[in-house]
Amino acid sequence: MASDQERNRQRLKQLLEKPGNGNCADCGAADAEVTPMRLYPVGVIQDPEWASYTLGVFMCLSCSGLHRNIAQVSKVKSVLLDPWSSSEVEFMDSVGNNAAKAKYEQIVPAFYYCPTHKDCMLLREQWIRAKYERKEFMCVEKQEPYSAGYREGFLWKRGRDNGQYLSRKFILSEREGVLKYFNKHDAREPKAIMKINTVNATFQPTKTGTNHGLQITYLKDNSTRNIFVYQEDGKEMVDWFNAIRAARFHYLQVAFPGATNSDLLSKLTRNYIKEGYMEKTGPKHTEGFKKRWFTMDDRRLMYFKDPLDAYARGEVFVGSKENGYTVLPGLPLNIQGYHLQFGITIVTPDRKFLFACDTQENQEDWIAAFQTVINRPMQPQDYAVEAYFKHKP
Ligand SMILES: [Zn+2]
Repeated sequence: MASDQERNRQRLKQLLEKPGNGNCADCGAADAEVTPMRLYPVGVIQDPEWASYTLGVFMCLSCSGLHRNIAQVSKVKSVLLDPWSSSEVEFMDSVGNNAAKAKYEQIVPAFYYCPTHKDCMLLREQWIRAKYERKEFMCVEKQEPYSAGYREGFLWKRGRDNGQYLSRKFILSEREGVLKYFNKHDAREPKAIMKINTVNATFQPTKTGTNHGLQITYLKDNSTRNIFVYQEDGKEMVDWFNAIRAARFHYLQVAFPGATNSDLLSKLTRNYIKEGYMEKTGPKHTEGFKKRWFTMDDRRLMYFKDPLDAYARGEVFVGSKENGYTVLPGLPLNIQGYHLQFGITIVTPDRKFLFACDTQENQEDWIAAFQTVINRPMQPQDYAVEAYFKHKP
């Protein structure tokens, strides 16, 4: 028996070498990426060390935990630690990640968000459920909740002033090009109309304190507005997210007929480049530094008193180095303060913005975040945003 066990384990390890099996079937992670604490010899390719012996796929530890929620379709075991029978190994050999992908991801809509190991638990869990439990990508009818171009339903929306979550009716209409919500269930006039061309959505489990928390932003008079929503049902929440992506995709296809799909798909929704606390001073640099929550959303650096505020207290446009924007570590010599040792100066064509971080690590992370946009040349649409910021009252 023991030698059978050993032989089966060796065969499984060989299967991990086959194309496709070396990365997690669901989040694409190589095992070393998700378990960085473990010390692997340099240059050795690591494998996902978990497998579903009912689906025939190899996966990372984190996704194996999500497969345990769908035990009726997926049963998982450790490749290295659990006993395997010869017929189970045979089955793993006959399927594998590439064949399973060809089956369970046959018709993933272009706009559908396929999460990676960096994404939140909700997105990864619903992706796994959509694939194997609901089989949404084997049957196009099952995609209607997010691909139909119209969606209506209730979401808990955080109140702007008191932070209380109240049930609100939301309507997404691709035809009208808007997402809107109503304060009263029978109201005829929406409380807010968000034009789909400026809408962004990003899951914010940490900031909102709920795994299902979604931050939706839109522009009103060129300023960013935030709303925070959630729904207990994880599928509903991710369906809303993908419905917004679908509506944006169709809007962009019409607005930019010459653009390639891959160009457009990268613009459907975006995660923030960085968020966190820093301290800032005013334009004259004479007032004291105040702690604020900062969000770097593409080229917009916004600051808030509270991370969940509906409006930014201010927004700064960060252009490219060719256009006179730079970021420097430290503060000008005339700015003093014992707690300001981890300073950052952003130089724009018009003025300097001064920030202070609480640690060197934070300072380096923020500088790296600013560098990613400063090093990237400005696009035609960036010039329009820059011009707006320059003439802002
Ligand atoms: Zn994974």
